[in-house]
Amino acid sequence: MDIVEYVLPLAHIDDEVRRFEQAVAAARRQLETLRAKIPADTPQDIAAFIDTHLLMLDDSMLSSIPAELIRQHRCNAEWALKLQQDALVQAFDAMDDPYLRTRRDDVEHVVQRIQRILQHAEQQPGAVEIDGEEARVVVAVDLSPSDMVLLQQHNVAAIVTERGGPLSHMAIMARSLGIPAIVGVHHVHQYIRDGEPVVVDANNGALLCGLEQKDIAQFTRARRSERKARRELGKLRDEASCTLDGTEITLHANIELYEDIAAMRRAGAHGVGLYRTEFLYMNRATPPDEEEQLRVYRSTIRRLQGAPLTIRTLDLGADKGVSNDSISCSNSALGLRAVRLCLKEPELFRPQLRAILRASAYGPVRLLIPMLTNLGELRQVLELVDELKRELTREKKRFDTQIPLGGMIEVPAAAICADMFARKLDFFSIGTNDLMQYTLATDRIDETVSHLFDPLNPGVLRLIEGVIRMGHEAGIPVAMCGEMAGDPSLTRLLLALGLREFSAPPSTLLEVKHIIRNSDIGQLQREFGDLLASHDGDRLERKLAELNHNHKNFIFD
Ligand code: PEP
Ligand code: MG
Repeated sequence: MDIVEYVLPLAHIDDEVRRFEQAVAAARRQLETLRAKIPADTPQDIAAFIDTHLLMLDDSMLSSIPAELIRQHRCNAEWALKLQQDALVQAFDAMDDPYLRTRRDDVEHVVQRIQRILQHAEQQPGAVEIDGEEARVVVAVDLSPSDMVLLQQHNVAAIVTERGGPLSHMAIMARSLGIPAIVGVHHVHQYIRDGEPVVVDANNGALLCGLEQKDIAQFTRARRSERKARRELGKLRDEASCTLDGTEITLHANIELYEDIAAMRRAGAHGVGLYRTEFLYMNRATPPDEEEQLRVYRSTIRRLQGAPLTIRTLDLGADKGVSNDSISCSNSALGLRAVRLCLKEPELFRPQLRAILRASAYGPVRLLIPMLTNLGELRQVLELVDELKRELTREKKRFDTQIPLGGMIEVPAAAICADMFARKLDFFSIGTNDLMQYTLATDRIDETVSHLFDPLNPGVLRLIEGVIRMGHEAGIPVAMCGEMAGDPSLTRLLLALGLREFSAPPSTLLEVKHIIRNSDIGQLQREFGDLLASHDGDRLERKLAELNHNHKNFIFD
């Protein structure tokens, strides 16, 4: 949307402010109408997105500051709104947590809605109109969460957007709605025409256009066989997760939202290996207190019916919502985040630790600390946990006195010194997303360097191998909860490296299980043999491709 600036005569300023306020009011009416139309079976997080947009419209940052800017600069409403949007986007970009940075998308969607009204470009909410019953692929510059609500009521086959990363809200929602999506396809509109048949191969991130009838027939067949393969895969749900040589492999799920537990059950996971608690702290002005957290953890434990729940403490970055300090740093991924932030802000950390300890009275709970870098941090965490246990005992509050306390190994310094951490921890969980980010000096949310992310990089593999070995030598379990654990093409390699606990998004678990059930660890170790010792990246990649090809994976071959 092109926004131009023009200067207004003083006499027109009041009218311009009124025009802006009317546009905000119209945007609110649109969202309220949309909110009222949400079908009852819509996942809770989708309604929450609309509520967030409504809250943003009520906030002075969007409802009154642009009006002040109109007066200050004597400019048109569109320009004032753009100035304020730029300032807000800059502030969000400075935040170091990927989830929080995606809040920026919300600001942009709300601003676009107001701009559309100001420019009379669109009277109705959402940019999406779909006629008829035929399943359509929706191609858009960007989609807001409220557009997604409209979309799920139609027969949408897939989504392709020019903007957005895999962690954007839109991508998260597409995943939770089960709609295949490819995001960040720059200039997609230049390559396809409206109404043209296209194929969205979301498994491989490929969008195919200029199709002939025979191509369409071929992909229709491929889709049918994928559906069939998924149905077959579903039959593995209750089968043992055991290799051909009889080694039991633990398969846990990564969950974020309460609703993920249903998907985890469909995947037959043995428990939760990573419960990311950040979502509890979002879309709100104040962090949840101890009692609220206890309620959420307790109901999650009840739904798990005896399966273990690994609760990771807050992995937020510097955020005004939870911190009074305004922290600025040049590279926020290396800044005050996760356990560093929690140790600096005990009023944030203590209620969460107390809630997790108290929740452990209701079922098997494990406590997981993110981003440990040095033993000093670990010592502080252990002292605090001991102090809180004494406090709870004095208050006669129940908790599991033996609650296992684990550490995420995701900082190279901790990986290299894993033996030292192993002496003080009950288990490890390798966070390969961050471990790769820090080892390869590659920002995990910057799409311009995503080609540098390489799980087969010898440096990364050497660290992973070392952490698994040192953990096992110390007699503690070692899990992996980064995305690598859910990538079926890496399962054989991870088994050969000694990994026996995988924690991954539920949607990936059954295929990983299929590979586990068809693997002989001894044979894999012989196949990889000197390649692992020498860490010859290219030969290793060829060997892995050969093994994956020879022993067909279920769906993605
Ligand atoms: C990781 O870093 O691998 C991980 C699992 O944690 P997150 O993706 O939440 O940082
Ligand atoms: Mg991490």
